[in-house]
Amino acid sequence: MGSKKDFKVSIVGGGIGGLVLAVGLARRGIEFNIFEQAKKFEEIGAGVGVGPNAVKVLRDFGILDEIIKVSNQPLNMRTFLFISGLPGHETIYEYPGLESDTGLGVHRALFLDTVVKLLPPGIAHFNKKCVSVEEGPESVTIHFEDGTQHTSDIVIGCDGIRSVVRRAVLGRVVVAKFTRTVAFRGLIPIDSAIEALGPSITIKPHAYVGPDRHLIVFPLQGQPIVNVVVFATDRSKPWDEQGPQPGESWVLPATQEEMLGYFEGWGPRVTKLLSFITKPNKWFLHALSPPLETYVKGRIALLGDAAHSMLPHLGAGAGQAMEDGYVFSALLSHPAVNKNNLEDVLKAYDHVRRPRANRVLEGSYNSGEIYELAGPSGPNLHEVRNDLTDQWNFVWHHDLDQDVQTAFSILGFKGKEKS
Ligand SMILES: Cc1cc2nc3c(=O)[nH]c(=O)nc-3n(C[C@H](O)[C@H](O)[C@H](O)COP(=O)(O)OP(=O)(O)OC[C@H]3O[C@@H](n4cnc5c(N)ncnc54)[C@H](O)[C@@H]3O)c2cc1C
Repeated sequence: MGSKKDFKVSIVGGGIGGLVLAVGLARRGIEFNIFEQAKKFEEIGAGVGVGPNAVKVLRDFGILDEIIKVSNQPLNMRTFLFISGLPGHETIYEYPGLESDTGLGVHRALFLDTVVKLLPPGIAHFNKKCVSVEEGPESVTIHFEDGTQHTSDIVIGCDGIRSVVRRAVLGRVVVAKFTRTVAFRGLIPIDSAIEALGPSITIKPHAYVGPDRHLIVFPLQGQPIVNVVVFATDRSKPWDEQGPQPGESWVLPATQEEMLGYFEGWGPRVTKLLSFITKPNKWFLHALSPPLETYVKGRIALLGDAAHSMLPHLGAGAGQAMEDGYVFSALLSHPAVNKNNLEDVLKAYDHVRRPRANRVLEGSYNSGEIYELAGPSGPNLHEVRNDLTDQWNFVWHHDLDQDVQTAFSILGFKGKEKS
């Protein structure tokens, strides 16, 4: 892989964030290696929703066309139907997607396969679990569990919610906290979803909301299945008094009875839908709280969940990772960037990305409170509508190119680099 630059980049972690960044760097001719702890790139089951802000990144990186080609289905509008999960199933609000607000729901495995095909050969290194990152005067060294190490000019930690690179950036261990919410995820046949929820589920996502519980259901791009995520929150105890202890797993096998037990007294559509999820796993949802005070230190940076792991209630975590990758690759590719000013470039990345992604992190928490009738309007279903109005506006309509230009002016770069 020939590079247009005099520096080399290392990416730790090949999840959605690391891989989208890799495609961005490859398209801009920047040399990099990815170090992934697993023996291959893999995503765990289920679907991921991609909003208009992230669609822009996928389009620019050439990923969107491939997904549309493989799934044989165009983008859809991001309307969202909010319905009471309690008996009667009153419609509360329909989020009005604009014509321009198109997005997609995509199977994670399909997304991954598509992205991996766009990577240059020889850049991926598997079974490479990073255990520490150490910055020297002119380079950064990654140490791996197998005793080997790798040195490059910058390291980008895309190593997810349990990031190891985070420790090197913050100078202390910062772990995501259990949010008091557990989730059960499943993919079910579209015919079963229609049987439970009616035909509208084939064209738009649904949210079934109610006290301390909610469900998100959306169809997947070009496939006869829908993605179901079921949430239950225990607000009776503080964050720190619940959840797995250090060293315990954050994902456990569960039974259908256990999942259904959270929904006693809920309406028939919900119980019918849940009857199709026969072998659920239970996820203890964690998030960074408070948000990080920096995403960079020297020539080490964080991207994606490593920087801003958030609750999934705005369906925005992966999208924020993609936005990080867009800005990072645009900044690194500017003609004025070289080995000598990388620290300044990372500071500029932090300056534009941190306020943005941390705001989405906080908004994601707030949306979960609204869906579970613990938001500003409390349990009043009619007023909850006001809380939901425009909730995605700030997520979807953000000018990433302006962020890139802001970063360039902080760096004192003249002229415009097409990002
Ligand atoms: C229930 C649920 C539903 C969600 N739904 C949506 C949605 O609809 N839309 C959306 O935008 N987001 C959604 N999200 C959030 C989204 O999944 C994450 O934000 C996104 O996957 C983060 O990507 P990442 O690459 O930063 O981290 P990850 O996907 O966690 O990838 C990290 C990678 O780093 C590797 N790694 C970890 N540690 C090391 C190490 N020490 N050394 C080497 N490699 C390492 C891992 O093996 C992994 O491959 C959801 C999350 C949950 C829990």
